[in-house]
This record gives sequence, structure tokens and C-alpha cells, in this order.
Amino acid sequence: MPLPSILDVFRISIGPSSSHTLGALRSGLLFREKISRHDLNNCHIKIELCGSFALTGKGHLTDKAVVCGLNGMDVEKEGEKFLETYENIVKRGYVDIAGYKIPFNPEKDISWNKNLDSLKHPNTVRYRLLKDGNVIDKEEYKSVGGGMLNREKVKIEIENNAENFKNLSDIMAFCKKNGMDFVKFVSYFMEERYSTNKKKLHLELLKRWTVMKRRIDEGLKKEGTLPGVLKLRRRAPQMFREYLENLRSFRMLSEEVTLTSIYAIAVAEENASGALVVTAPTCGSSGVLPAVLNSIQERYHLQDSKIVDALKVAALIGMVVIKNGSVAGAEVGCQGEIGVACSMASASACYLMGGSIEQIEFAAEIGLEHHLGLTCDPVAGLVQIPCIERNGAASVSALNASNLALLSRAKHQVSFDKAVETMMEIGKDMNIKYKETSLGGLAKTINSL
Ligand code: SF4
Repeated sequence: MPLPSILDVFRISIGPSSSHTLGALRSGLLFREKISRHDLNNCHIKIELCGSFALTGKGHLTDKAVVCGLNGMDVEKEGEKFLETYENIVKRGYVDIAGYKIPFNPEKDISWNKNLDSLKHPNTVRYRLLKDGNVIDKEEYKSVGGGMLNREKVKIEIENNAENFKNLSDIMAFCKKNGMDFVKFVSYFMEERYSTNKKKLHLELLKRWTVMKRRIDEGLKKEGTLPGVLKLRRRAPQMFREYLENLRSFRMLSEEVTLTSIYAIAVAEENASGALVVTAPTCGSSGVLPAVLNSIQERYHLQDSKIVDALKVAALIGMVVIKNGSVAGAEVGCQGEIGVACSMASASACYLMGGSIEQIEFAAEIGLEHHLGLTCDPVAGLVQIPCIERNGAASVSALNASNLALLSRAKHQVSFDKAVETMMEIGKDMNIKYKETSLGGLAKTINSL
């Protein structure tokens, strides 16, 4: 697969999961488009959620997302009202496709198939369109991580015959030859490969940065309980208040890293509540990068344009992983989500602190290396425990990775590309219990659920 677009890494998404919520919603949009050529009178739609979609789909709002997708939801414009829209569809009892009111009752029309054995991909959804009881159209979609569907990966391959960059080492060699840093490379690449000029790219990234910052601001203010059986209380506002108190009483170790961690938790709590977030590279890990960038921006009073450049550096790391690896917890565990988020944040922090491309590569490698083997075992299938705190922990690791890379003058043995290869190898060997199925690990520690 060629290098994807920067906008495949940073998608504006509804929480809590890019693969299980955004990917599921986008599959609904695609099926809607596919069937809109039919005469839809007297038609019904049946949906089968399979594998990890069935095992953790309730907590990840997968069923609600497919219904909103079928009904044509525009995530950027209407995503904030995702749950409200779903409730309205259920109440009125139909989905609206191409002017037809197709009766739909989630209780009867969505089935949950928890069997993983027969699947080519753990995140699979099957749609059938029936007319007078006969199947007249059907489709199967696989959500491969970060909100991307398998069919889009194939499309990128077919459409792109231009120069391909194999991995980060390849890109670094190209940068050296052409006197570019990573920021210039990403701008060049997006123009050449995806016909996105610098101005458009800047505006798209600025839009994403605005959403990221809004999640920090609101996450620090919103009190209450997160959705789901755990009845978890939001902690970011209280932690932030106590942080400020403790600053005054000098009872605070590592103030800056603590604040970064609180920012990450604020975003992760927003994500868990189903708010609009930016995948970086996924929803579950969407707190790490904004926290690190916000913290550095505040400390050094950086302009938003500088943060946009840092987003380009972070995205490049995500792009390479999507190309050569995976960012889906259901494929490789949390190493592909939080591990990659940490790697992206480490690289962008290192860039902001003046790191060379070698030091940035090293920071990205450290960020990923120390998350290798990390399992995905969310309690009750919710993106809450361990996900929320894990965002905080990874944001701190990213600051450290950046510092270590800057202090080590970029000398290291294991390359970032090798770390990605290793992540994939571990992911293949990882027991299915630890790949977003909630069948093992921490998911099993709370027995009363
Ligand atoms: S444990 Fe990690 S990969 Fe799994 S849902 Fe949580 S954040 Fe995503």
C-alpha cells in the first residue's frame, strides 16, 4: 500500500472508537450510497455485526454508528448530535435513504455474531438489502483502523501509481537528497500525491487543531458520569483544580508532565462520552497528541501555525504505520493505538524542540518501542479503563522520548521502521483475547459486570 494522506491519519470523528464507531458509521454511508440506485419500496435492511464489532460493539456504540451512517449522517456537521440523531431514528422507526423511508428497528434488524473464526478481519460488518423477503443487494466491510475501511485501502493502491515511499528510512533519504525537513516533505507529498495545496492543507489542519483544543478546554470543565455500565466519573476537572491548588502549595512533582497528562485525560474523557474528536491515529488514543502539543504551545507561546507544522510531523509517523503496519486495536492490540499515538507525539515534540530529522525519527522509535506488546483489553467493552489513563501515561512518555532523543544526538540501534515491523510481528502472535475483544486481561478483572 502507498503512503496514505495526512487526512487519513487525522479524521474528525465521533468518539469513542475510530474503528468501531467512525469506521462503522462510514460503512453505513457506503452501503447507503450503494443501494440508492435501487427502487427501495418495500425494502428492509439487515445488519450483522461480526467478531470484535459484536464483542465490544455495544460499548463502542457500533450499532448506533451503523444506523446513523445508513441515515446519511455528516460527521463533521452533525457528529456533535450523534446520540440524539440515533434516538430520533429509533423513535420514528425508519432510515431515510434517497427519499425512501425504510423501516428499521435496531432490536430486530441488527444481529450480533461473536464468532471470530470464519472472519478475514475481526472488525467486520455485513449488510443485506431485502425486497419482499429476497436479498437484492449485500456488502461486507472491514474496518481496518483509524476510521478507514478495507475498500479504501484498495482504492488508494489502484489510484496511486506515483512514486512510492517504502518506509521512514526511504523518506529520510529523500529529504536529505532534496534538502527537506519532514514538514516540507509532508507539504510536498500532499501536493504531489493528493493534489492538496499548502493553503488547503494548512486550513484542514488548523480545523483539526481547533477541535483538539476544544476537547481539552471542554474536558477540563465538564463534570459528571461517563456513559456505560462502569458509571465512571469524569476526573479531569477535579484533577485540574487540584493541580492548580497544589502548585500554590508546592506539593507538585514534575508540574509540566502532570499538566500534560491531565490534558490527555480531559480529551480521552470527552472521547469516551461520544464527543467529536480527531483521530491521532485513533479515537481511543486521541488525547495523547493534543495534550503534548497544547502543553508545549502554552509553555513556549507558539503560534498555531507552528503547531500545524508539528501536526505534519506527527501525521507522517502515523502515515508510515498505516502503510506498513496497523493502528487497529483489534489487529495488533493497544500498541497500534496508544503506542503509535505516543510515537507521533514524541516526534512532534522533538520537532518543536528543534530536533533534526534523525532525532525526530529516534523520538518516534522510542515512543513506539516502549509500548510494544501492549494489549487491548477494555473493561466492559468501553473505551474507558484502561484507555483514559493510558492516554495520560503515553503523553508523559512522549515528552520523555523527545528529551531522550534530543540528548542522545540521535544515535540508536533499532530504527523506527524496525519497531513497526516488530509491532506487527507481536500483533500477529498476540492472543485474540487481548485484541479488542474484552475476553481477557483487564477486561476480566471486574467480575461484577
Ligand atoms: S485499550 Fe487501547 S486499543 Fe483498546 S480500546 Fe483502549 S485505547 Fe483503544
